[in-house]
Amino acid sequence: MDIIETLQTGDYEQLLVAVDKPSGLRAFVCIHDTTLGPSLGGVRIWPHATEEDALADVLRLARAMTYKSAAAGLDFGGGKGLIWADPRTGVSEAAIRAFARHVDSLGGRYITTEDVGVTPEHLIAMSKETRHVVGLPAHLGGSGNTSHITGFGVYRGMKAAVHEAFGVDCLRDMTVAVQGFGKVASSLVGHLLAAGARIVVTDVNREALERARLLNCRVLDDPDAIYDVQCDVFAPCALGGVLNEKTIRRLRAKVVAGAANNQLLTPDDGRKLWHHGIVYVPDFIINAGGVINLAVEVGGYDEDIARERVGHVYDTVTEVLKTSHKRGIPPHEAADRLAEERLERARSAQNGQLNGKAHEDRDRFRRVRTPDGALEQAAA
Ligand code: NAD
Repeated sequence: MDIIETLQTGDYEQLLVAVDKPSGLRAFVCIHDTTLGPSLGGVRIWPHATEEDALADVLRLARAMTYKSAAAGLDFGGGKGLIWADPRTGVSEAAIRAFARHVDSLGGRYITTEDVGVTPEHLIAMSKETRHVVGLPAHLGGSGNTSHITGFGVYRGMKAAVHEAFGVDCLRDMTVAVQGFGKVASSLVGHLLAAGARIVVTDVNREALERARLLNCRVLDDPDAIYDVQCDVFAPCALGGVLNEKTIRRLRAKVVAGAANNQLLTPDDGRKLWHHGIVYVPDFIINAGGVINLAVEVGGYDEDIARERVGHVYDTVTEVLKTSHKRGIPPHEAADRLAEERLERARSAQNGQLNGKAHEDRDRFRRVRTPDGALEQAAA
């Protein structure tokens, strides 16, 4: 990989190579874009086979965070950290703290949090070296694990998609096929059951299936059978790449709306879903609850405010699906455009051309508490 060329063509702002010989730390921090605000994104611990693979991963993930935050209406940019190590063999506290010192050296341009391989203990260790870390446990002033609120956001997004696809704003008696019954899906299914939906669940983990049985969900012991379920909504909540040439033709759902990251194996699979008449809710739009929650934590965590903002996933999904319809493009392309256009408006605003829509963006999530505790939109 020609790294300078890749950074320039991908519009990356900064790449930090973070090493610390005494602790053995080998890591990267990539800041993709800070047009909308400081970059926010987790740090991942992963044993990539080569340095090139590790770099490609952190670059891709940082860029994805720019799009996720921009589309969610957050005043944050995209960044990501990657510690090149094997989480199974453990990463020493000294290495984690050395990584945090590198984060601190960026002066707040990058705010880090948990991602694959990183534990709450790691975040606590980081907080001893930098204040630019979020997702800390509640007793340390953080918002804790984001899975629960992410599940709420997926529920809100699914409702919006069902409204677009079926014209009803209610999931009662709809059948939802859920792939993977982990942390986010458990929260999602709780909301779906309360709304009167019928749930079909599969997982590769027996214990997860037992939990689903206790909730009276229909359980599929064969994980592969989930693609053939006659249902209204298919909710991928496990792995990436599950929407591909082989699976799309098996789907019996009208809507695909789930938590998993990178659901489309290729962008072309988004077009395939569209041609099949299936309403696909882009993953980074519907699973933005976690990052919205973290963005609230940066300004001082308030659960009510976080929940209210995550509830807006409904509006973002509606906007994406309406744009897809109006412009005659698949939803995943409409979602990219939503993010890109917001970034463009912000760049124009920064160049002194603050137009009406840019004002609207700026004020979208600027809410204050009135003395009686109610949430109100703040004056511009
Ligand atoms: P999790 O590990 O708690 O749950 C994933 C579940 O999927 C597990 O129970 C696992 O056994 C199951 N699974 C794995 N392979 C499977 C297969 N082939 N078929 C069926 N089930 C399988 O993870 P999570 O935190 O619930 O996250 C789920 C997805 O949502 C991931 O893709 C994650 O990246 C994404 N996501 C999570 C958050 C968050 O806040 N946790 C935020 C955004 C996106």
